[in-house]
Amino acid sequence: MNSIDEKLQPILSTVLHRNAGEKEFHQAVHEVLESLGRVISKRPEFADDALIERICEPERQIIFRVPWVDDRSEVQINRGFRVQFNSALGPYKGGLRFHPSVNVGIIKFLGFEQTFKNALTGLPIGGGKGGSDFNPKGRSDGEIMRFCQSFMMEMHRHIGEYTDVPAGDIGVGGREIGFLFGMYKRLTNRYEAGVLTGKGLSYGGSRARTEATGYGTTYFVQRMLGTRDMSFEGKRCVVSGSGNVAIYAIEKILSFGGLVVACSDSDGYVVDDAGIDLDLLKEIKEVRRGRLSDYPRLKGKGSHHIQGGSIWELPCAVAIPSATQNELTGNDAKILVTNGVVAVGEGANMPCTPDAVRIFQKAGVLFAPGKAANAGGVATSALEMQQNASRDSWSFEKTESRLATIMHNIHDACAETAEEYGAPGDYVLGANIAGFVRVAEAMRALGVI
Ligand code: NDP
Repeated sequence: MNSIDEKLQPILSTVLHRNAGEKEFHQAVHEVLESLGRVISKRPEFADDALIERICEPERQIIFRVPWVDDRSEVQINRGFRVQFNSALGPYKGGLRFHPSVNVGIIKFLGFEQTFKNALTGLPIGGGKGGSDFNPKGRSDGEIMRFCQSFMMEMHRHIGEYTDVPAGDIGVGGREIGFLFGMYKRLTNRYEAGVLTGKGLSYGGSRARTEATGYGTTYFVQRMLGTRDMSFEGKRCVVSGSGNVAIYAIEKILSFGGLVVACSDSDGYVVDDAGIDLDLLKEIKEVRRGRLSDYPRLKGKGSHHIQGGSIWELPCAVAIPSATQNELTGNDAKILVTNGVVAVGEGANMPCTPDAVRIFQKAGVLFAPGKAANAGGVATSALEMQQNASRDSWSFEKTESRLATIMHNIHDACAETAEEYGAPGDYVLGANIAGFVRVAEAMRALGVI
């Protein structure tokens, strides 16, 4: 395990003590603190005024009851969360996750990561995250709508286009954002389009937002491959997940000439050596809201589905984990390295365990951390806010071209920062330091608040 500078040890101890049991949050803070020793040696002013302690403590945490009535007229109770982590750079910004695993520690880890990710985009957005332990699987459209309405009944008090701007994440896509926005509009009697992003095109959404996270991750990895004179062209790739991020990562990899042979959901994974049929994947996941196990039957021949197991056992040159946190372990990393992986780009947030990251880095595999590689989603959300503020709507081409430029800039900022701080090629260190410095400079200017 990398060591944490002794000046930063007490900060970690406080975080562990104050947030007992929140293991994902501990993991995220640990990983950032590992990188900050080099910063405070070079710029000791950042250790003043408990600045790093303040960065590790959310500005506000809201936990609320979400009662709703299911299709059998029974009352269900879920728990809602919004963690407003840091607003030094702009309104809190970050998605909502609806998944039964959600708890305050997961939302805090995501909000903490989001703060640095948003800083890396160079756009004026702070960090936040929210969600609920609600499980949308198997629920009717009516149930999803009633849940979203009840969730917004409380959340509307805490958000606003200049305060906090939520978006989607796991379990929250265009349908849910529509229901949430409808209820916000009704409760506030304001058409405040900039209060949520990921909206539909008919009511203030941005072109290319749906595609942005997956496309952005692929742009980042393509540029990273370019540093070693490689590209996606002809490379065998594996993408985990089959949701928003995974589907559009696959789409962009295909357009760059790569071959994606497998993807997954929480039941298992599908292998198609001829290349995943993207139209069929979209039909199963976006239209039918079905399971990947249906893929081989619908495809006809040439593919198979593995129940359970690890998708990372498949040989590939590029791996794009795009499902959820800690889905790729040290053991998976060893197998990928043995099988000749050359690059790993995190489409999801913290999908690789700390062990896995170390194994990749030690083996010289190009490794792009999520807070840099998947920042295209939030960056395009910020572009959606710009369009809303100026009552404008950009073309797909213009939006995608802004996204590509932002991703290239993030890549270069991470690479240059890693070099400047004496660790060339270490994108984890580069992302942590570049994101931190931007937030820290703003916080210093704003005084102790
Ligand atoms: P979706 O809900 O669209 O898709 C999630 C995918 O991951 C599904 O295939 C799902 O399978 C699978 N999955 C979720 N939880 C688990 C689990 N515990 N074990 C195994 N598989 C799981 O979410 P997104 O694609 O939006 O998000 C994926 C990741 O990307 C998350 O880490 C999210 O935080 C991150 N991210 C998303 C952004 C966005 O713009 N959407 C932006 C930046 C990061 P199943 O359907 O079976 O549950």
